[in-house]
Amino acid sequence: DVPPGYRALKEADVAAYLAEIPAVATNLGGQPAEWKIREVGDGNLNFVFVIEGPRGGVVLKQALPYLRLVGESWPLPLRRSFFEYQALVVQAKAAPQHVPKLFHFDETLALTVMDYLNPHIILRKGLIRGTVYPKLADHMATFMAETLFATSDLGQPAAEKKKHMALFCDNIELCRITEDLVFTDPWRVADGNRWTSPQLDFTAAAVRTDGPWKRAAQELKLKFLSEAQALIHGDLHSGSIMVTESETYAIDPEFAFYGPMGFDVGALLGNLYLAYFSQSGHETMPGSRDSYRDWILKTIESIWTLFDERFRALWNNAHAGDVLAPALFLNNQEPLALKAAQDAYMRRLFVDALGFAGAKMTRRILGLAHVEDLESIVDPDLRARCEKRALKLARLLMVEGGGFTDIKAVNDAARATQREA
Ligand code: ADP
Ligand code: MG
Ligand code: MG
Ligand code: MG
Repeated sequence: DVPPGYRALKEADVAAYLAEIPAVATNLGGQPAEWKIREVGDGNLNFVFVIEGPRGGVVLKQALPYLRLVGESWPLPLRRSFFEYQALVVQAKAAPQHVPKLFHFDETLALTVMDYLNPHIILRKGLIRGTVYPKLADHMATFMAETLFATSDLGQPAAEKKKHMALFCDNIELCRITEDLVFTDPWRVADGNRWTSPQLDFTAAAVRTDGPWKRAAQELKLKFLSEAQALIHGDLHSGSIMVTESETYAIDPEFAFYGPMGFDVGALLGNLYLAYFSQSGHETMPGSRDSYRDWILKTIESIWTLFDERFRALWNNAHAGDVLAPALFLNNQEPLALKAAQDAYMRRLFVDALGFAGAKMTRRILGLAHVEDLESIVDPDLRARCEKRALKLARLLMVEGGGFTDIKAVNDAARATQREA
């Protein structure tokens, strides 16, 4: 069921294809024969070519009719490229400084051409190396607040939101991947599940019979299925963020759809906690990553604090929706009532984010797709110790997330877990 006209581009086809797109040819400069082309896709899903010309560079990302990680046995629709393109357009409007500039979209070939981010690296790799990113919290809080607010019922009228939702409702297959891999498979015997064995065999079996944990996962899945709060990125882990010390970009929004905002916030926080618990596996000597561990927790705290602050500021100053308008609450005690509504809204979002963070952590340890933070720890005993700590916090976030008063309390729990044997 590959649509007519589709073909997977080979390295040798790329220059001729791009030469026909004036904006791209101009950006690259020189002649097509001078363009240097290489395939760099390290992701699970798609092919990514970097093209560098005398003037500038672009990235061409093309979807294949199957999942790259698994191969042709797992078909996946090409139209995910359409949703990625649509999401990039919306994100570029809300947070232009944090998404790569888009040059071209080709629906038939299921590809996008965007700015080559250079010398930016994938955040996950920086976190493994122990690199500090002073602007990361500020930038990601801004990206999430701006994109989530703008597409929520607070940021746009109901009619626009419904039309936009209809567009993204069709991203069924990619949502389905999340639904299965994040919320269900780690809690059952499923093809593709794997873990550090035999060290985690008992843990994995215990998770599959842990009623409260399983229930929490299913209730988060229900939120994911039914709460169309805003256009979410849908895959906002540290492998979808590219950084230098001064710049931060979110890439790869092919999982975008109208879903619960806490899923994006939780993806980011959960992957930072995975980075935190992985540090013991990357220390050259015991304690050498102590200050880096502290930086990760400080970054987590700042991300939530700044996100909360910016989201509320947008609510108070840029409300454009049909519900909970500040202008409706101007008399007497009414501003206090609005403040109470805002507190309740942000509190729900916080607890959702913690739950989603826990689900994302769990699936990276017991499910199909793992993370380099942990996989690169060669000693399986050491890796398993890191993974057990991460799973312990993950369960707490999912089952007892409502018990945390604030983000500092979550970090205290992470620290306590790290200190245990
Ligand atoms: P997938 O959907 O297959 O995960 P990604 O969009 O995450 O694909 O891209 C895969 C890899 O390609 C990224 O991890 C990154 O290394 C590189 N990449 C993607 N987009 C860019 C870009 N705009 N600039 C530089 N590198 C990029
Ligand atoms: Mg990716
Ligand atoms: Mg990637
Ligand atoms: Mg992707």
